[in-house]
Amino acid sequence: MAYKISDSCVACGTCISECPVEAISAGDIYVIDPSKCIDCGTCAGVCPSEAIAPEA
Ligand code: SF4
Repeated sequence: MAYKISDSCVACGTCISECPVEAISAGDIYVIDPSKCIDCGTCAGVCPSEAIAPEA
């Protein structure tokens, strides 16, 4: 499992420096690489838009 960033992302950049395995890439909407994500949940905790959640 991996965390996923939804359309609520406003590309603020808050999460990207928090990820311990550099799984998050910048863009119009930020994207988490599921092959890198270790499911730690750090990014979800810092996102001001609450755009990050565990993938169902
Ligand atoms: Fe990185 Fe953890 Fe977020 Fe996965 S859950 S993208 S490892 S900060």
